[in-house]
Amino acid sequence: MDNKVSVWAQFAFGGKSLFKGLALTFSHLLKSRKSRSQISIQEEGYFDNQRGIATVQYPFESIPVPDNGRYKLHNEIEDCIVCDKCVKVCPVNCITIEPIRSPEEFGKTSDGTPKRIYAAKFDIDMGKCCFCGLCTTVCPTECLTMTKEYDFSTFDIPDHNFSFGNMTPQEIEEKKKAWDEHPKNKMAVAPGKSDPTDQASAAKPVFKPRIKPPTQP
Ligand code: SF4
Ligand code: SF4
Repeated sequence: MDNKVSVWAQFAFGGKSLFKGLALTFSHLLKSRKSRSQISIQEEGYFDNQRGIATVQYPFESIPVPDNGRYKLHNEIEDCIVCDKCVKVCPVNCITIEPIRSPEEFGKTSDGTPKRIYAAKFDIDMGKCCFCGLCTTVCPTECLTMTKEYDFSTFDIPDHNFSFGNMTPQEIEEKKKAWDEHPKNKMAVAPGKSDPTDQASAAKPVFKPRIKPPTQP
């Protein structure tokens, strides 16, 4: 049996392949006359709208980022109670807080949490941050959030240290002096005595494990 394909059949097959390839190239050429509309991947019909030039003319155009993305941190300092939880949880120690205690409650956050500690300093060094998001999850007042801002490049690394404290040097001195001179503070620093106003360090119950003697068989 002769399995040879005639030269004319091969010629026809080659012509058909060439036509298909060129048709695809030409269709892309037509689509590339305009840019793709920049839509979020979460939007309906995302995959049906992938026509046109994919290159984004950044910074004039930018691709929408997801709502749950992790980018630059922001602290709404008026809602911060300076609880220090974000500092403790940060794996790379990039949050620095300088607290000043207040003898009395001096305000409330937007969710009604009392404020008793001033933030003389609240710095986040985004140059060290690994964007794990842990600090935002432990924040009790949800004042620490990750924004959608991802382009905050700078020429100098120290410029990645962002300060959120809004107290003036004069206010800081006044608040420090007020706490230093307050009787509560004097009680707290009395040698050999614990701070009776500090509920967190109030006498903790001593844990004594109850060990039962082994029963005899
Ligand atoms: S995102 Fe992670 S690394 Fe960055 S400041 Fe928060 S806890 Fe620290
Ligand atoms: S965890 Fe939140 S409330 Fe506490 S110090 Fe950090 S930013 Fe402020």
